[in-house]
Amino acid sequence: MWKSPLRADALGPVSAALENLAAQGCDLVRFAVPDGESAELLGRIAAASPVALAADIHFDYRLALRCIELKVAKVRINPGTIGEEWKVREIVKAARDAGACLRVGINAGSLPAALRENPDVASAMVTAAENEAEILERFDFRDAVFSLKSSDVSETVSATRSFASRTLFPLHLGVTEAGPLIPGIVKSTLAIADLLREGIGDTLRVSLSDSAEAEVQAGLAILRCLDLRGEGVNLVSCPRCGRTSFDVQGFLEEVSDFIHTLRRPLTLAVMGCVVNGPGEAKKADIGITGAGKMAILFKGGEILRSVPFEQAAAAFREEVEKLP
Ligand code: SF4
Repeated sequence: MWKSPLRADALGPVSAALENLAAQGCDLVRFAVPDGESAELLGRIAAASPVALAADIHFDYRLALRCIELKVAKVRINPGTIGEEWKVREIVKAARDAGACLRVGINAGSLPAALRENPDVASAMVTAAENEAEILERFDFRDAVFSLKSSDVSETVSATRSFASRTLFPLHLGVTEAGPLIPGIVKSTLAIADLLREGIGDTLRVSLSDSAEAEVQAGLAILRCLDLRGEGVNLVSCPRCGRTSFDVQGFLEEVSDFIHTLRRPLTLAVMGCVVNGPGEAKKADIGITGAGKMAILFKGGEILRSVPFEQAAAAFREEVEKLP
């Protein structure tokens, strides 16, 4: 999600960021649309975007109508903030006419007023989702995905699981306001993996107080670990270790941008020493490890060549690019 307000002077950086996110495997980027100026700018961005865009709308249904008119692919509405049913009806009608889709995003922190006092927050979230699903069904509108998010893992899983058992609408998964990089990824993974293993979920977002790139990388890693999306790199690498003769962490930082734009399903190994280096590299399409003053490159367990450390990153990139 683009986290700064959309303003005209941000169009250049936004376009570059979208290109980068698309290259990393992101399928959809959501923008907050708090006012008319943001809606107009989002329309301009959507017209040239390499990735589908979603508009996040609260309070003013006319912003949703304008974004749909401007051909933004998806509009997210929150039943706790969008207001009366007739406003939802107007949005649904516009979305149907334009072929746009909706996300109905239930958030524990902004439930509809009638449900806010319910001490069972997961149950209140399910009721909010059911009420909105009933409205969409009454209008015979099916191009919608629902999400039920809390910053609490158990609440998110419980609410999503319960709603999944009562609806045919697809579900978007995620823990909202999950926190900074490490706790955010841990919370998100626990919730998302639980649900995906049960066959629940159609789209996901790892929501982090960090970069959009980190969110995409974390989401793809979850899908890769669960064998749900094969593309991209499975990275095998050593922790800090007294035996290491190769700066694993420094090397990974150096090749990080390169690795994250590889879309082919590859296993790459970056090992600290020869104890497990060649063994792990056997399973890797390309592996690298240190021995003495040299870095050794492997392919399928066979040594390809050794190079001085300062040439290691370039040699690694070269060997990966040579792969069929
Ligand atoms: Fe440590 Fe070497 Fe094992 Fe890596 S392969 S964890 S550096 S002993």
